[in-house]
Amino acid sequence: MPLNTQSTIRPPANRAGVTRDEGEDARRVQLIEVTIDSLAEVGYVGTTLAEIARRAGVSPGLVAHYFGEKDGLLEAAFRKLARLVAMNARGRLALARTPRARVQAIIDANLGPENFDKRTGIAWLAFWGQVLHVEGLRRVQTAYQRRMLSNLRSDLRRMIPGEAARSLAAMIAAMIDGVWLRAALSEWQEADSESAQALLTAFVDGRLRELTRAQRSNGPEPTEHAGRRAPHAQDSIRVINPATGEELAVLAVDGAAEVDAAVARARLAQKAWAAKTAAERGRVLQVAARLLRERNDELAELETRNTGKPIQETRAVDVTSGAECLEYYAGVAAGLACEHLDLGPKAFGYTRREPLGVVAGIGAWNYPLQIACWKSAPALACGNAMIFKPAELTPLTAVKLGEIYREAGVPDGVFQVVQGYAQTGQLLTRHPGIRKISLTGEVSTGKAVMADAAASLKQVTLELGGKSPLIVFGDAHLENAVSGALLGNFYSAGEVCSNGTRVFVHRSVRREFIERLRARTAAMRIGDPLDPATQVGALISAEHMQKVLGLIARGRTQGARLVIGGARVTAGALGQGYFVAPTVFDACHDDMDIVRQEIFGPVMSVLEFDDEEEVIARANATEFGLAAGVFTNDLTRAHRAVARLEAGTCWINHYNITPIELPFGGVKLSGLGRENGRAALEHYTQLKSVYVAMADIEAPY
Ligand code: NDP
Repeated sequence: MPLNTQSTIRPPANRAGVTRDEGEDARRVQLIEVTIDSLAEVGYVGTTLAEIARRAGVSPGLVAHYFGEKDGLLEAAFRKLARLVAMNARGRLALARTPRARVQAIIDANLGPENFDKRTGIAWLAFWGQVLHVEGLRRVQTAYQRRMLSNLRSDLRRMIPGEAARSLAAMIAAMIDGVWLRAALSEWQEADSESAQALLTAFVDGRLRELTRAQRSNGPEPTEHAGRRAPHAQDSIRVINPATGEELAVLAVDGAAEVDAAVARARLAQKAWAAKTAAERGRVLQVAARLLRERNDELAELETRNTGKPIQETRAVDVTSGAECLEYYAGVAAGLACEHLDLGPKAFGYTRREPLGVVAGIGAWNYPLQIACWKSAPALACGNAMIFKPAELTPLTAVKLGEIYREAGVPDGVFQVVQGYAQTGQLLTRHPGIRKISLTGEVSTGKAVMADAAASLKQVTLELGGKSPLIVFGDAHLENAVSGALLGNFYSAGEVCSNGTRVFVHRSVRREFIERLRARTAAMRIGDPLDPATQVGALISAEHMQKVLGLIARGRTQGARLVIGGARVTAGALGQGYFVAPTVFDACHDDMDIVRQEIFGPVMSVLEFDDEEEVIARANATEFGLAAGVFTNDLTRAHRAVARLEAGTCWINHYNITPIELPFGGVKLSGLGRENGRAALEHYTQLKSVYVAMADIEAPY
């Protein structure tokens, strides 16, 4: 039946011939435009609902009807300006053909004549002045900044190494802000669009030239970690020791051809590997575990050089926990039992757990070797082949693990390492020949990976971020609780996903808790990560350190009380690295940024509470759900509390201990699926059901 367009239902037109909806939209647009005019002319303070109403010739009630309070109207206006820049950028990006042209497109969109004018500039300035105080404006500004930085980073990474790309992206964003600010403050006497664009263009070209030149002249001979010599800067990863700035290696980035070849090799190799018995595969993994233990010190040192973590940690934990994981799966895979189902006298059924085929692991930078082991051990034990991409900042020990697997007897192609940035990760997540992705990374990466994996319906395991609560009740063993809080915040300089960074302490013991915490934190030794006495090493990169310091600064401005730390440490040689002192904030509130955002650095927030009901509700009031801890001597309360905490892993009277036997993973935005324990076996296998007939078939025809 042809559609009768006449019958399409529309709201009745008003007298001016405009439908009600269109009229409403037009009114909204008008009010937003009037707001921008008002901000440009009379500033933030003068821009009241009454003023907007007066300028628009409507009643203040109508303005309130559309936008509620003044902040609602300002947020809508700010959003509009940010959207204009974003649309402009999208249009320009669509026409840009090279990474450099895409970077220019972002600069031009921000500084082009369409936006870079007095009216918009003064309105931006008014918004910026309020961003720290008005939540809605901050949201808009954060989203706008994040989008710009991520576009810049991903294009720059195609030209220069990742770390340099991150910092150049931050510089460009800062310069764009600076140019706007100067122009607005000088009332457009000092800048016009053309010279602002020229300034940024010259800056970016200059930096890119310097970086590429430095890359060519500094590039060492291929190290033992580098499979291929990087031909161009944009095809390479420069691996840096974050404690000293020293270059450790230059690796070639793997692109589509390398990933395709790796998948083809893995497909071939996987069949033969899966044909072995689980016990045979287990014996190979046992040998690999022994080799890991034998090379503990050598691997720990490499991990320390690449991550900045203290050698006392990497020697005791990183390699050992990897070896434990291999040993565990070497044992349990052989004992993997399925079901037998009695279907009456004429049939029975059984299930088989079979490998998925070729799977991929993508790792984060905080526990590079451990993550590679946590993903590859169950994958290989179950008969899969794995292609693993380490984080670009820490790509070295995964290569060592590959060598160890080969030496232990893992056939060629069953475990392969590809190197690269997010694009290489995407080649894996989008590859039709790969059946599963296991990612450890940020929530936003998890979402991107899941969306990319959907096209080929891959399974996903996502180990993502957290902002976990650690609750200290009034009856807790206080010294143990302080130990838990220190372990759960300052181990690995706080770069641990499950950290208990929201420390809720009962009012009756808070003062004493803080005193003990201060004393023990003051005694911690920050220093050269290779010194066995060092307890706190470097953060992973300059950019990450700036993020951590930025959040510390926000903690202070938002009214948290600094108990100890709070600054970068630059004494002596530490100035060449990225060291931040363990930091404790007291008197924190649930709505502070340091309490809501994952910092992934040595920053602890202490919050006071009065009763169990209240603290559980506050502990759960987060989008994350990775872990939680409870310190109390009341066993009933401990179990009652953990049953109500929304977290994948809970500790009672301990924190951050992760035995391989216990499944590990998150709920809510902290992830999907589980690593470790028997649970991981289910994520690396698929179930086949088999029906077995024991009698003749009764067919009706
Ligand atoms: P990222 O999410 O930035 O990166 C993780 C990995 O994913 C890296 O190898 C990265 O490559 C790669 N990647 C990035 N974008 C994509 C994409 N679109 N497609 C495919 N791969 C991609 O995390 P970080 O490395 O910064 O690690 C810190 C985060 O990891 C924190 O949020 C932390 O909480 C979380 N984490 C979670 C753990 C858990 O078990 N739940 C444990 C440890 C950390 P590249 O680095 O080369 O860009």
